[in-house]
Amino acid sequence: MARETIFVVEDEDDILELISYNLTREGFSVKGFGCGEDAVKALQTGLPDALVLDLMLPGIDGMEVCRRLRSMSGGAGVPVVMLTAKGEEADIVRGLENGADDYMVKPFTPRVLVARLRAQLRRRHSDPSSILDKSEAIIEIAGISIHPGMRTVTVNGKPVKMTASEFKALYFLGSRPNWVFSRYQIVEAVHGENYPVTDRSVDVLIVGLRRKLGEVGNRIDTVRGTGYTFRDGHND
Ligand code: CA
Repeated sequence: MARETIFVVEDEDDILELISYNLTREGFSVKGFGCGEDAVKALQTGLPDALVLDLMLPGIDGMEVCRRLRSMSGGAGVPVVMLTAKGEEADIVRGLENGADDYMVKPFTPRVLVARLRAQLRRRHSDPSSILDKSEAIIEIAGISIHPGMRTVTVNGKPVKMTASEFKALYFLGSRPNWVFSRYQIVEAVHGENYPVTDRSVDVLIVGLRRKLGEVGNRIDTVRGTGYTFRDGHND
């Protein structure tokens, strides 16, 4: 099997070098870029298997690179792991909304980055219909319609754009209304087994999901000390 190619976009040389070294050692073919413009140019000539993308870059930032990738033919299926500095949590939500599949807060250990990347690549290589079987039922709940085959969500008839992770989390929660799920269960539903669980990433995912759903987003309830539930309103 050909080696998988990873593009790494990072303006800090030492971090770029650290990531490149570790990914190369893990058998990946790595191409590094110091700015967003160079990365976009390279993306236009050929897509990698995955993209590690720093958020803060000189010129066009990581968010914009991600947006452009998603608009390219075939670009929607390329996993993107975004890198952020501490204190950029609001940006993380934006990043996930703009199509990043995962994120890591600096400083991080390269080993964890490699694990996250592998998890994303596995998801991509598994059956294209992935963890959601096309035969699964469409969920209609509280004005929200979730179509697992078309992977579309509408709220009161209006389409709502979701990232792959948000979609899976919503489908998972919506498939069993009023059941309480732990963060671990949600991570497993979204990313598959053996994925490093961080409470923070689940919380960020839910924040983004609520925001996109607008008024009906408040049906996703936080259950203190446990996790989350989707209320169908029948017990209100
Ligand atoms: Ca940077």
